[in-house]
Amino acid sequence: MFEHIQPYAGDPIFAVVNAFMADARPQKVNLSIGIYFDEEGRLPVLPSVQEAEKRILAAGGAKPYLPMEGDAACRAEVGQLLLGAAHPALADGRTVTIQTVGSSGGLKVGADFLKTWLPDSAVWVSDPTWDNHRSMFEGSGITVNRYPYYDAATGGLRFDDMLATLRTLPARSIVLLHACCHNPTGVDLTPAQWQALIPVLKERELLPYLDLAYQGFGDGIDEDAYAVRALADAGITFFCANSFSKSMSLYGERCGALTVVCTSAAEAGLVRGQLAYTVRRLYSSPGIHAAKLVARVLGEADLRAMWTAEVAEMRERIAAMRRALHDALVARLPGRDFSYFLTQRGMFSYTGLSAAQVARLRDEHAVYLIASGRMCIAGLSQANVGRVAEAMASVLAD
Ligand code: PMP
Repeated sequence: MFEHIQPYAGDPIFAVVNAFMADARPQKVNLSIGIYFDEEGRLPVLPSVQEAEKRILAAGGAKPYLPMEGDAACRAEVGQLLLGAAHPALADGRTVTIQTVGSSGGLKVGADFLKTWLPDSAVWVSDPTWDNHRSMFEGSGITVNRYPYYDAATGGLRFDDMLATLRTLPARSIVLLHACCHNPTGVDLTPAQWQALIPVLKERELLPYLDLAYQGFGDGIDEDAYAVRALADAGITFFCANSFSKSMSLYGERCGALTVVCTSAAEAGLVRGQLAYTVRRLYSSPGIHAAKLVARVLGEADLRAMWTAEVAEMRERIAAMRRALHDALVARLPGRDFSYFLTQRGMFSYTGLSAAQVARLRDEHAVYLIASGRMCIAGLSQANVGRVAEAMASVLAD
């Protein structure tokens, strides 16, 4: 029956994690997968989330089905988290938020919806982007193209080239944009660059699709929502998939959402209905535990305050690790420019290391990065950063 099917080579990132797990060297360091680890190398369980769990159980913990679009309280909280509680788009009823199975679920529901309702639109993603973007959109039957993004020469952004490409796209093209903490490069648009991008999106009638998977890991919870708010202020119709995997350390609970900001309440009503139908055909409805956790952490003032501080702690640790690695590398290779570690944002940095250099780091030093040279900064700690810098310096010096 299935002898003819193509073998699946496996996901490249999970393959690196498996190789790391199988490595018996005690000094090994995992800087591959996009997971935030604390200073002790553990996956944090946030006290705000633990307390929310206690309250959910105390309230009885019944597990009915949720509606297709998810839990109402969760959806309302997410809308406010993204746009800011006072945004007129919320009061006008021209936004739709559905709770989804991780932001991956949101991205996928959005992709299926777009294939149905804008069937001739292709999507443009940044070069490079998170690999799964291509897989997901292609899986929905949407053609995936790339716009210029990362500048290998400077470790920065090819903003002019990006704009020039976007200026050539047909109307109703979908433009996937990382709202903050770009994966895999760590290179973000500044607020001024978002403001320069907006007229192009408007003039060309493009449909921005924001991916906000790392809110709070860049400059702050509100600061990292700058793009969402700027697009909403500009009156543009856009999509935004957001995640609580990293910001609440809830990876396996699959907490995320998809928000569509429309131009009128009537349009939003139509979008809401068809998003619900898209969910019905995919997985019927999202998980209730995820919804209750997000709704409580965001909606109860004491838990919200705890969470805000916990996110700040994670963000500040990442920033401290960026500085520590930068300083340790500059001390070892004084002639080289490592400032990109300080300017890039979030968990990831593109190191510029070649696949061969990444292989040497793994084989000779038990330091694991992705073959593209992407490093997950959140895998660094005071205990291992010196060793990682030493290993990188030896690979770069040859
Ligand atoms: N978008 C980006 C850019 C990501 O890095 C990730 C996770 N690695 C996701 C979306 C999906 O996250 P989740 O499904 O866990 O919310």
